[in-house]
Amino acid sequence: MGRLSRLSLHLRLSLRVRLLLGIVLPLLVAVLLTMTAVLATIEQRAEQRMQQDIELIAHAIQLPVSYSMERDRRGSVHQALESVFQLDQVYGAYVYDSDGEQIAAVGAVRPRHEPDIVQDVTLTGEDEAGQYEEIDGRDVYSHYVALTDDATGQIIGWLQVTRRASDFEEHRQEVQRQMLAGLLAGTVVVLLLVMVGHHRAVGRYLGPLSGIMSRIEKGERGVRADVDGPRELSMLARSLNTMLDAIERAEQEIQERRNTQLELEERLRHSEKLAAIGRLAAGIAHELGAPLSVVDGRARRLLKAESESLSLKEQGNLKDIRHEVQRMSHIVRQLLDFGRASSRERRPIDSASLVDSSVEQVRELAEARAVSLQLDGERPGPTLEVDRIRIEQVLVNLLRNGIQAEGVSRLKVQWQAEDEGVCFTVEDDGRGIDPEDMPRLFEPFFTTKSVGEGTGLGLAVVHGIVNEHHGWIRAEDSELGGACFRLCLPVRIEREEER
Ligand code: ADP
Repeated sequence: MGRLSRLSLHLRLSLRVRLLLGIVLPLLVAVLLTMTAVLATIEQRAEQRMQQDIELIAHAIQLPVSYSMERDRRGSVHQALESVFQLDQVYGAYVYDSDGEQIAAVGAVRPRHEPDIVQDVTLTGEDEAGQYEEIDGRDVYSHYVALTDDATGQIIGWLQVTRRASDFEEHRQEVQRQMLAGLLAGTVVVLLLVMVGHHRAVGRYLGPLSGIMSRIEKGERGVRADVDGPRELSMLARSLNTMLDAIERAEQEIQERRNTQLELEERLRHSEKLAAIGRLAAGIAHELGAPLSVVDGRARRLLKAESESLSLKEQGNLKDIRHEVQRMSHIVRQLLDFGRASSRERRPIDSASLVDSSVEQVRELAEARAVSLQLDGERPGPTLEVDRIRIEQVLVNLLRNGIQAEGVSRLKVQWQAEDEGVCFTVEDDGRGIDPEDMPRLFEPFFTTKSVGEGTGLGLAVVHGIVNEHHGWIRAEDSELGGACFRLCLPVRIEREEER
């Protein structure tokens, strides 16, 4: 992943932050707006109630003060004022005569001049009023009530009861403080609820899922996501697992194909190598064949014609020459077999009769070595379209190897039809083949026999002929204890395939 896309990934908001921004923030804004509206109403009500308190207090002493004013009892007026001043809400109480002249006053501050309201109210004919005003530099709320003569109903003065304006402000601040604290506590609770809810519903499943994904990114292919959690996430995990399975299968297939290709290439190289060696061997054998038969012919003629004149020692030497020449001819024949170009002389033939004719060729050798031969297969056997001489040579080479192998007393040959064609097994009860020799067994000139006994061409010839017939051969351990050679040949080679 590029650095830029990584950076943009980091800059993207997490689901939790998105939830907070998308749900909690609008919720809080809505709550804040509602609370502001509610606060305004509460404040208005509270203010009205506080004004009503002052109004009630004023009304409570209106009558006694009027009474005392009628009778000009200033002391009683003062007493009445004193009595309301005891109340917490009251900041000051003042009485004016009908001309607005202050005649009694209690309280922290006193108005130095006649309040305008007295005139205003008098002019409008009202008998009470309330207003905010400033008395001696202090903000207050005053309620004015008219003092009337009991008998005539005429206004004889005014009663003013005041309350500090800051009382309202303090009350408002207190309400605001409480609401803010409630809002804060509510916000914290909502935040916690959203975070816990997110963790329980999504976060605890998303964490392991993204952990798995980063492990996959690092190259781990064996990991699989847990399919627990809410439906969407479990579907995501399931799809991820299916995708990983598919990738694993595809990788396995690719690996298998690569292995098959490597194997094919190796076999092709091997076949090409064998073909080159075969051509070389055939060339040498061809050149050696003629001189060897000349040497053998001369030695034979000399032995025949001059036998009387030759000493015994000379006769012995000539016999040795013939023996060695015959051995060389055998090698040359094998070389020719190995290098011979593939034949196209294929005819249908019964596999049982192929085995019989091959066994006949080695029977004498088997008897000489006291090896018993056991043949096991259907008669007539499955039919094969092959070059009879070449396939006989394959079986003879395998049989001869078996008879000659160390410690062999029993040799078993089997044939049967299988899916791949007709298969033959030649196995013995000898010492078997060393595991380290197995890979080199079919190589030309590989032999474990001592010099003069083996050429190492027998199995190479076998391999060449089997390949030529598009079959396969392999060596393995036999249940009898020795070696087992198993080969299969297709019943017929299609012309297309051959080409
Ligand atoms: P050669 O028989 O001339 O050595 P081959 O190509 O026929 O050449 O055989 C190669 C080698 O395979 C033999 O030297 C022997 O070690 C081994 N071999 C073949 N057949 C058998 C068998 N039936 N049991 C044990 N070893 C065997």
